[in-house]
Amino acid sequence: MSQDTKTEVQEFEYKAEMKQLLHLIIHSLYTHPEIFLRELISNASDALNKLRLLKLTNHEILDPDLPLKITIEVDEKNRTFSIEDTGVGMSRVDLIERIGTVASSGTMEFLETLKKEGASFDGDLIGQFGVGFYSVFMVTDEVTIETRHYAPGSQGYRWKSVGEGKFIVEEIDRQQRGTKISFTLKKDAEEFCEVHRIKSIIQRYSNFVNFPIYVGTEQVNTIGALWHRKKDEIKEEELNEFYKFVSNDFHPPLGHLHLNIEGRVNFKALIFIPQSPPLRLFDPEHEKSLHLYSNRVFIQDDCKELVPEYLIFLKGVVDTEDLPLNVSREVTQSSPVTAKIREIITGRVLSFLEDWAKNDPEKYDTFFKNFGRYLKLGINLDPANRDRLLDLLRFESTKTEPGKLTSLREYVARMNGEQKEIYFITGDSRGSLEKNPNLEYFAKNDIEVLLLTDQVDVFTIGSIPEYDGKPLKSIEKADIDIKDRDEDDADSLSDEEVKEVFRVFRETLGGKVEDVIGSKRLVDSAATLVFGKHGLDPHTERMMKLIDKDFSSSKKILEINLRHPLIRNLARLSLARKDEEFVKNSVLHIYEGALLIEDNLTSPEEFVRRMTDIMVRASKIEY
Ligand code: ADP
Repeated sequence: MSQDTKTEVQEFEYKAEMKQLLHLIIHSLYTHPEIFLRELISNASDALNKLRLLKLTNHEILDPDLPLKITIEVDEKNRTFSIEDTGVGMSRVDLIERIGTVASSGTMEFLETLKKEGASFDGDLIGQFGVGFYSVFMVTDEVTIETRHYAPGSQGYRWKSVGEGKFIVEEIDRQQRGTKISFTLKKDAEEFCEVHRIKSIIQRYSNFVNFPIYVGTEQVNTIGALWHRKKDEIKEEELNEFYKFVSNDFHPPLGHLHLNIEGRVNFKALIFIPQSPPLRLFDPEHEKSLHLYSNRVFIQDDCKELVPEYLIFLKGVVDTEDLPLNVSREVTQSSPVTAKIREIITGRVLSFLEDWAKNDPEKYDTFFKNFGRYLKLGINLDPANRDRLLDLLRFESTKTEPGKLTSLREYVARMNGEQKEIYFITGDSRGSLEKNPNLEYFAKNDIEVLLLTDQVDVFTIGSIPEYDGKPLKSIEKADIDIKDRDEDDADSLSDEEVKEVFRVFRETLGGKVEDVIGSKRLVDSAATLVFGKHGLDPHTERMMKLIDKDFSSSKKILEINLRHPLIRNLARLSLARKDEEFVKNSVLHIYEGALLIEDNLTSPEEFVRRMTDIMVRASKIEY
C-alpha cells in the first residue's frame, strides 16, 4: 500500500434509500453471494473499457503505457481480499456521487416488494439495479476503495465505509492510475479467499472479460471475441457461457444467431434469444440490450438503437467498424449506419423466428408464450414488417387444445368455403370464454373462433382489421354474418307471440339496452348481450376498462333465443296477461344473468333477492 500523507478526512452520510438498501443487503440471506465477485470484476472491466476508448481517441492519460489488467489478491490466513484495476479511476466527486447513491428510484420499491413476498434475496438481482458495488456487503462489513483518476496530475483518494450509515473520503498519495478495492471477508464468507474458489467463479461468470484477470500472478480467464471466430469452431458450451456473461441470465439461451454481414454496412454479431423475459417486463430502463464493439473494442453497453423497440429482449454483441470510435449515444441514435444495422438485424431475427415456427413449432410456441407480447407490440410499431409479424402471431382457438396455439394462416386454411370472416372473442381466460353463450352457434356449426386471453390482445386486435383479405370480427358484435338455422320446429312461436315477447322485453328493460332482437347465434342459452353498431367494440371497451377501472360500459343489444322454452313460456304467459309481475321479474333476471356472465353485474343483492322470489313461485305446492 502506498504511503499516505493524510489531509482532511471528510465524513458523509448515505442517503436514506441507500441506508435501506444496505440494511436489506446486510440482513438478508443470499442465494448467490459469489455474485459480488462478478460485480466487482464487471466494474473494473467497465473502467478499463472506458480507458481504452479514451486512449484510442487520443485523450491525455496518466501513465499511458500502464498495461490494462485486473489483479485479485487473497490471503487465506487473514481472510483478506483485494481487486485492483488500471482503468479510469474515480475523482472525489465520483466517489461521493456514484458510490454513495442508488441510481434508480424504482430499485428500492422493487427490493421492498421482494422482501415483502418473503423471497430469499437473490444476490444476482443486485447487478440489475445499478448498485452492483454494494453486493460486497454480502461478504464483508467494511470496504476500502483507493483510487486515482486517469487525468494527468490527478489526486488519489481513499473511500471507506464506516458502519451502516456512513462513509469517509480522504486524500492519499497513490502512484498508480485506477482503483483498488479491499476488505476482510466475514467468517461465513471465508471460502472467497481460497484461490481455487475464486478461479472457478471467474471462469463461470467473467471468462469473457476483455482484459486479463490475474489471481496472484496467474492469468485465469481466456480472452477472445467469440463472434470473430468461425461458426463451426464455437462450442455450444462457450456460447452458453458467453450468453450468461453478456446477459446476466442464469439460464442458457433459447437460441442464437451468428451474423457476418458484408455489404453496404459491415458487422459481425452474436445475438441471443433468452428463454424468458426479464423480471420487469417493458421497463426499458432496466432492459439490457446489445453491446456495441468496434473491431473487438468495447464501445457502448446496452445500445438500444441496434434493435427496434419491440425486439429489445435480444441480448448479445454487435461489432462494426463503420461507426466512429468516439461515438456518443446521440450519434449512435441518429446515425444511418445504426439504422441500417437495425434493419438488417430485424430482418434476420424475423427470418430466424419464421424458420423456428416452420421447423420447430414447439420451440416457437415456447418462445411465443414468453415473448409474443413483444411481437404484438411490433404490429403497430413496424409497418414495414407488419405482414411478417402477423404471420408470427399465435392464439388459442376453439380448435386448439388448451395451451396450444394456432397461427392466422392455419386458421384461414381450416375455414370452410362459406365462411368469409375470421372470428374471435376476447376475455380473461379460456375457461370463461368457452362458457360464453355467444360461442354456441359457432360450436354447433363447427366454426373456429380465436380465443384471445392475453390482456394486450385487446390492444392488438383493434389494429388488425383483416388478414389475407378476410375481416376479423368479434363474435360479440350484433352485426355478424351468420345464417339463421332453418330447423323445423312444431312448437315455434306464432307471429303474435313473437311480437308480444319483444314488447314485454322492451318495455321492462326500457333504457337499459340499446334494443332487444331475436338471436341467430344462441342454441342452449335463453339470452346474451352483444355490442351494437353504435357502441364501442368489445375489445376497445375492455381496453378502456384496463386503463380506467371506473369506465362504464356502453349500452348493448339483448339477443333472445326464440326457440328457448323459457322465452316461449314467457311469450305465452304474457300474451295471456297472466302473472305479469312474474314475467317482468323473469325478463329482468334474464338480462342481469347476461350481465353476470360478462362480469358487469353491479347489484348481486338484488339479483339474488329476485332469484329467491322466482324460486318461491316455482316451488309453490298446490294443496
Ligand atoms: P453500476 O456499475 O451498475 O453503475 P455500481 O454500484 O457497481 O453500479 O457502481 C457505481 C459507479 O461507481 C459506476 O457506475 C462507476 O462510475 C463507479 N465505479 C465502480 N467501480 C469502479 C471502478 N473499479 N473504477 C472506476 N469507477 C468505478
